[in-house]
Amino acid sequence: MYMDLTVITLEEHYGDSELADSIAGNGTGLAKDVLLALREVGEARLRAMDEAGIDLQLLSLADPNPQELPTGEADNLIRRANDRLAETCAAHANRFAGLAALPTQVPDGAALELERCVKSLGFKGAMVRPLTNGVFLDDKRFWPIFEMAEKLGVPLYLHPATPHPAVTKVYYRDYADNFPAILGAAWGFTVEAATQAIRLSLSGVFDAHPKLSIILGHFGEALPFLLWRINMALSRPGNSSVKFRDCLSRNFYVTTSGNFSTPALLCAMLELGIDRIMFSVDYPFVSNRDGMDWVKTLQISRSDLQKLLSGNAKRLLKL
Ligand code: ZN
Repeated sequence: MYMDLTVITLEEHYGDSELADSIAGNGTGLAKDVLLALREVGEARLRAMDEAGIDLQLLSLADPNPQELPTGEADNLIRRANDRLAETCAAHANRFAGLAALPTQVPDGAALELERCVKSLGFKGAMVRPLTNGVFLDDKRFWPIFEMAEKLGVPLYLHPATPHPAVTKVYYRDYADNFPAILGAAWGFTVEAATQAIRLSLSGVFDAHPKLSIILGHFGEALPFLLWRINMALSRPGNSSVKFRDCLSRNFYVTTSGNFSTPALLCAMLELGIDRIMFSVDYPFVSNRDGMDWVKTLQISRSDLQKLLSGNAKRLLKL
């Protein structure tokens, strides 16, 4: 709680030891303390939430990245990981809720797994990443997942992942050794996720599924800041018809995960409105306390603060 307001965070990660340990070399890029914190879904995590004043974490699998599992095994492995996440959530039902991992390697199977996770396990939606075997999610083979999410009335959280190897080679290789963050949170993640969001808008998936909701972390991966320019350029002659601004403000929500910037909040409030912004941390890559320390500096109305901290999440996730 902060003052008397419930605090919910949506982009909070965990690692599935059983699944991660079955993959040779998995997790080698992560700091040891982060790896340990990812795998811990009990007392230490709850204590870190309590110390910051966070009531409920929405848990999502980050170790390993489910979309990097071998295609032939992904369905079975991810199903079992989701079952284990359901047990974790059941053990602390008022502190944890689940976002499903999906075997996007087999899109029809992923749609069915989303349905199972929502209807049988009580999950609130799913987390997806841009690329599966080098193909972006807007490819029509993946549309059964979007159709199912719309049908179930649950959001898909579009999380960044490491850029495609060809992009890494051309764009980042010169600096990746001395500045590995350029591939991740410093820039590569942002470009990968923002590109996927723009591609979804161009694909027509929101015309086919107008009630589909996508959540972007990190204050919308820079898209609120660039909204005017993207919308203007896409409206020029020579481009097919797309209402990018309408897509972004109708089908997308953003969270504050790992981006505790008041100017970024003001920009998102102006471009998307407070009803589409939700507080999140990105634990354990970012500390709960840093997130809440920032919240305490915000000079916004109490009703906006309530929407930011939990009101919008409760409505979108039907909590
Ligand atoms: Zn994250």
